[in-house]
Order: sequence, then structure tokens, then C-alpha cells
Amino acid sequence: MTIMDFPTTTSGIQGMAPGQQALDAARFQLAEAVRFLGLDDGLHRMLATPRRSLTVSVPVRREDGRMEVVQGYRVQHNLSRGPAKGGIRFHPDTDLAEVTALAMWMTWKCALVGIPYGGAKGGVAVDPGTLTSRELERMTRRYANEIQPLIGPEKDIPAPDVGTDEQTMAWIMDTYSVNAGYSVPGVVTGKPTTLGGSLGRAGATSRGVQIAALAALGCAEGRTVAVQGFGKVGALAAQYLADAGCRVVAVSDASGAIYSERLDVADVRAWAGANGGVPGYPHADAITHDELLELDVDVLVPAALEGVLTGANAHRVKARLIVEGANGPTTPEADLILADQGATIIPDILANAGGVIVSYLEWVQNTQAYSWSAHEVEVKLRDLMEGAFREVNTLAADRGLTLREAAHAIGVGRVAEAHRLRGLYP
Ligand code: GLU
Repeated sequence: MTIMDFPTTTSGIQGMAPGQQALDAARFQLAEAVRFLGLDDGLHRMLATPRRSLTVSVPVRREDGRMEVVQGYRVQHNLSRGPAKGGIRFHPDTDLAEVTALAMWMTWKCALVGIPYGGAKGGVAVDPGTLTSRELERMTRRYANEIQPLIGPEKDIPAPDVGTDEQTMAWIMDTYSVNAGYSVPGVVTGKPTTLGGSLGRAGATSRGVQIAALAALGCAEGRTVAVQGFGKVGALAAQYLADAGCRVVAVSDASGAIYSERLDVADVRAWAGANGGVPGYPHADAITHDELLELDVDVLVPAALEGVLTGANAHRVKARLIVEGANGPTTPEADLILADQGATIIPDILANAGGVIVSYLEWVQNTQAYSWSAHEVEVKLRDLMEGAFREVNTLAADRGLTLREAAHAIGVGRVAEAHRLRGLYP
């Protein structure tokens, strides 16, 4: 596809790689926002393509002495509002198209919640579960070394995403710092607190999901919830929603799904931690992944990967409110079907923005060499999330848009305005 070929329909191509489907979805959403805002073709073309994309081959020495090579990526989609910002994903299916889509969504997300960043994303096509801890460390450090020319606290700041965590960020921070010759804590966010990580960062995406869900629900008491993806984001989102008074009835992870009239989320988290997943949890029934997505619940939280709610299953989805903890879980086809059915979707760039908001707060603390209390962080997170929610809701109501259309209109509009003010060099 050339940059001239913006997708103009919502129909996906059967058998297309998931990464390309995500990029097509991202470009479709951009095209809708461009139309709403009346932006010109040149700016549309600029926003549809990343400013910089780096593909790297990462050689990894395995424990038995063999060398393997995995593909890595870092894409900076936009830098107009500040340094590029976004996570790094370790997943076997990741590719350049997926990382590009995720970088584009980061640009709109940061603009929407009003933090001074552009958008970026990184990825390595590897299953981290197949590597020993020492192999993972070697691979992470070599990948960090390969993308070192692009990253830096004033240029591009990575963070955790699917398959990466605080330890990954500690290795990247150390590799960058050793190469620089001094400690640079602000080069990554989502670090361990000992190295300058922020209090509240680990649960920030989930806290943001809770804040967004409660803002839409009004009253949480007794509302039923199903969570797809009981991982870093989903497990804590389930916990925080249960703490607020919701009744969590079903959760799933890659290996299976469970259902009960009222799950004790803390107990499921402990059990899943000890047993490697939710299947087999003794106080619930096993259900299929599809059954979980189609449960008659008040709230469905997709909190894993892209392309989960599609044209094939959306007409069977009964949830009244969908809160996207994951990036890109709903395809444009599913969006149309769900809107027709009267479902409300709090889109990814709003619902899961809590993570990058507290990343921003971490980076601000790093630049000041100062740290805030957990309470201070939580108050700032809540302010930014609730403010963004109000803006999206108001625009959607005033102009008859879905929340996704409104969120993209605001995010894309702010980036377009930054371009207009800065002008084009030379
Ligand atoms: N990976 C997270 C996201 O998709 C967080 C990114 C960040 O903190 O920079 O929003």
C-alpha cells in the first residue's frame, strides 16, 4: 500500500496479517477525524505516515551457545507536541505495521489527555516466555543498544507494553546510561521505584480504566463486568472495578476463561499467579473465550490485544458499555455494529490513557529529581482522566459522534493545530 491509498471503507481483507489490519483500522479512524476537522490532503498524508521507523536485527546468544536473530522495531509517529512516547512490546506476532498503528494511537492519546508528547511504539517479534531470564536480558540490552540513536529523555521515551515490565525498563535504562556514561533515569518510564519509577505507575492503566468506566456508569454498585485478558492491565482493572462495587462475573487469559455469579477477584489473582493462569480456578465454571465476549453484562473490558471484537462476533456482544483497556481491540466493522446495537465504547486512546499519564508524571519527577506521594500522583491522574472524559463526552453529545470519533477528533485536532502553529520547515 502506498501512502496515497488511505483505506476508505471499513471492510478488512480476509487473511490479512493482524498488524496490517491494525494499521488499516488506525488509518480509517484518522481519515474519519480528518473529514470531520476538514484538514487538507497534505496534512492527512503527513499524519497517516510515521516520521521515523527503525527496523533492527537483534542477535541473541542462547544458553546452549547458538545465536538467533530476532526482528525489532521503533517507530516515531509524530513529534510535533513534544518528545515521542510509547511502550515496547515483546510478542511473537509483532511487526512493523502493528508497531506503526500503535505509535499512531499513542500520538492521539497523548494529545487527547493533554500531555506534551508525540507518539511512538517499539516491538520485538519474540515470545519472552521461551527465553531464560539471562537470554531475555541479553536480548533487551542489545535491542536497547540498537535503538539508542532514536531514544532519550528529550527525544523518545519507551515504557512497558505487552510482554515487557519494570525489569525490562531497568535493563534499558542501564544500557542507555552505561553508553552515555552517567545515569539517565528519564530515558524510560515504568521503571522500578528504586531507579526513579513513580508510585502508582504499575496500576495506572487499570486505575484509568476504572475511572473511565465509573465516569460512564455513574453508579457502580452491582454492575456486572467481564474482563478479557487477565494480565497486567485486566487483572488490576477487575480488582479496582470490584473494589468500587461492581460484580465481576468472568475473566479470561490466553489459556482459558472462567465464569461465576460473583468472582472474588483478589482470590482469582492469587490463584492465577500460583497456577500460571485462570483455567481450573475451583470456584468458577470454565467457559470459552467467545462465550466471555458474548456475556450479557453491563461492562466488557477487552484488555489484551487488537482485533478481538470484529465484524464476525460484534452482533453477538451484549455488553452495554465496552471499556478498551487494550489498544485497538475493536475493528471499525465491529464499531459500526456495536453503535447500531446501542452499545457505548470508551475508546482505547481515552480508556487506557492512565498508563501514559502516570508515565508523564514519572518523567516530570525524573526531570526535577523529585518524587511525589502516591496520593499526589493519583489526584493528578484522576484530574487528567476525568477532564479528558468530559471533553470527549461533550463533543460527542454536541456533534452526534461516537466517543471514539470524538476522542480522535480532539486528539488529531490538537496535533494538526501544533503543525499549523509550527509551520513547515524549510
Ligand atoms: N504501553 C502503554 C500504552 O499503550 C503505556 C505507554 C507509556 O507509558 O508510554 O499506552
